[in-house]
Amino acid sequence: MVSVNMLLFNSEYMDFGEMDRCCHHYGALFWYAERLAMSKQSSNPKFSKCCLQGKISVPLFPSPPVLLQNLLSGIDPRSRHFFEHIRTYNSMFAFTSLGGKVDANMNDGGGPSQFVISGQNYHRIGSLLPTEGQKPKFAQLYIYDTKNEVANRMGHFSERSSRSSLDQSLVNDLMKMIDESNVFAKTFRRVRDHIEDGVENVALRLFHNRHQNPNSYNLPNVDEVAALIVGDFDSSDCGRDIIIRTQNGYLQRIPKYHVSFLPLQYPIIFPYGNGKYAKGISFSIESTNDCDWKREGVSFREWVAFRLQERGNECNMLIRSRRLLQKFVVDCYSMIESGRLFFYRNRQHIIRREVLSGIQEAIDRGDTNAATIGSRIMLPSSFTGGRRYMFNNCQDAMAICKAFGYPDLFITMTCNPKWPEIERQIAKHGLSTYERPDIACRVLRAKLDQLMADFRKGEFFGKTMAGTLTFVSY
Ligand SMILES: [Zn+2]
Repeated sequence: MVSVNMLLFNSEYMDFGEMDRCCHHYGALFWYAERLAMSKQSSNPKFSKCCLQGKISVPLFPSPPVLLQNLLSGIDPRSRHFFEHIRTYNSMFAFTSLGGKVDANMNDGGGPSQFVISGQNYHRIGSLLPTEGQKPKFAQLYIYDTKNEVANRMGHFSERSSRSSLDQSLVNDLMKMIDESNVFAKTFRRVRDHIEDGVENVALRLFHNRHQNPNSYNLPNVDEVAALIVGDFDSSDCGRDIIIRTQNGYLQRIPKYHVSFLPLQYPIIFPYGNGKYAKGISFSIESTNDCDWKREGVSFREWVAFRLQERGNECNMLIRSRRLLQKFVVDCYSMIESGRLFFYRNRQHIIRREVLSGIQEAIDRGDTNAATIGSRIMLPSSFTGGRRYMFNNCQDAMAICKAFGYPDLFITMTCNPKWPEIERQIAKHGLSTYERPDIACRVLRAKLDQLMADFRKGEFFGKTMAGTLTFVSY
């Protein structure tokens, strides 16, 4: 039954205002509504989604090369064309291929552009030279037949997109920019020089942990990311380094936590080949003084959250890369999820014991025969979207109904891309809502939190009966 208080509420739209609040640690911009609960009443609000209140200390992106700056600011007349085809231009210069199955059918209709992948996602790299009769691809383009490099690069995309839609002068300029600034391009060019000098048996070793301190601001040099090995060598002690042979005809996977994983796939976002995630990134000194803070290294999810912030003191190349941002976000999320799945796979002995403690649940799952309990992988209820997660939430909902009675309303809240907060923010850079999925998600989350707060305060529907007991999942 709806309370009469509902009739008294203010029907005007509640605008959050501008995204003009600043995290005082690394300058990430927020809406006031996104502040932490502990600073709700404060005129100096605190934010945590960017850097965990200063605990994450990752170098900001350096200013990109002049060409990218001009494209980003619109000074270059090819700016509009570049951002329309940014995924193509990025793939043209990428050193690795994306292993996930990209579903292009989603973009056939008139809806906004989407990036959808299915199956297991991974990045792969081939040999230094293509096999006989094959065209060079990805990193091989930096080494093989470089006299016709622009034509080779553009030739790959002539089938997928109209060749005439790509700008040859832009390809040329991007190639020069990457040659001058990207540490991986310099490395592969070195290989080309050796092969052109007649050295046949050569291999490239991409280091996993020989990089400079990941908390450092300095740009890496060629010797820190890779080594050129001439002649035969024993690769048994290479650890997690990647060895790329001259010509072996197969693709090898790049481990997802290899420091070169993202810079090799996104040369436009990481034009210098730096800014990578490394497991050795430590928390800041502030957190070491915090007695409750036990963790040692920044997780990949936290690193991505730090990167996906808009800052007044950063060039914001990543979040303004439009369709490339979509690809980056999907790619990173698949990495985060596969990391979680790997975590649970290695802790099955703990999870299984927990599962089998509930006899009813084991029977529901079909584990009545001991022989069927083989190599099945169990996902615990803490894995969002998993079967046990859904089951537990359903049980919680049923328990609440049993204790407090059935609900009067079942409310579903969806994001409206025309909300003024979203439109104002994306208009600042001339973007569309689908090109800034982070903004849409953040506004929806803030509005949902506001809605829940209003309900709990009892303004509209009276006192909340089960508010302190419910677990709200987003
Ligand atoms: Zn911050």
